[in-house]
Amino acid sequence: MGVRGIGAALIDLVLPGDCAGCGAPEHPWCPRCRAEVGPPTRPHLPGGPDVLAVGRYTGPLRSALLRYKERGRRDLAAPLGAVLAAALDDAVGPAPVWLVPAPSRPAAARARGGDHVARLCRAVAARRPEVRIARALRLARHVRDSVGLDAEQRAANLAGRVRVRLTAMPSRGTVLLVDDVVTTGATLQTCAAALAGAGAEVQAAIVLCDATGAGRRT
Ligand SMILES: [Zn+2]
Repeated sequence: MGVRGIGAALIDLVLPGDCAGCGAPEHPWCPRCRAEVGPPTRPHLPGGPDVLAVGRYTGPLRSALLRYKERGRRDLAAPLGAVLAAALDDAVGPAPVWLVPAPSRPAAARARGGDHVARLCRAVAARRPEVRIARALRLARHVRDSVGLDAEQRAANLAGRVRVRLTAMPSRGTVLLVDDVVTTGATLQTCAAALAGAGAEVQAAIVLCDATGAGRRT
């Protein structure tokens, strides 16, 4: 960890009420970071599902996600959940709106002190009375961390390993898949296919960050 990394880690320790993006003493976002979150993108995945991202994987949105996900800043679920909740306005169908978190590897969730996508969903639900959460997906064992894998390898890594919890399936209403980042789309496509196979059609996927190469700005 370099000097900057140590400084950032110290800021994370001492200032729980700071800007999610840069650590300035303004919560939840300082004006500069707030202005840099977004604009929303709609990265195209061949074969679906439709994807709506709060913004590109860069700037304050990316730093906020990294601090939340990798540096133990669970309190950032609230400001990140707020920007995700605002994105729902563009993807809402009939109520109730079911959020299905994309599943994390159990070992990764344990290392992070809980499932970070499910926590984001709870932060959205806390702001939106029509929103419910269905933790209908889980990962089977033997799924590798997808970092460093290309699209084909990611798809192969996930194939057949996303499992449905039939007792937690969403019922009537609108089903939205939720994840933190879309990169190749393999996770979202595998999850949507698993849900469809169990009878739940995903209307759209909502993600915080668009890390695809061809994210089209809207
Ligand atoms: Zn800031």
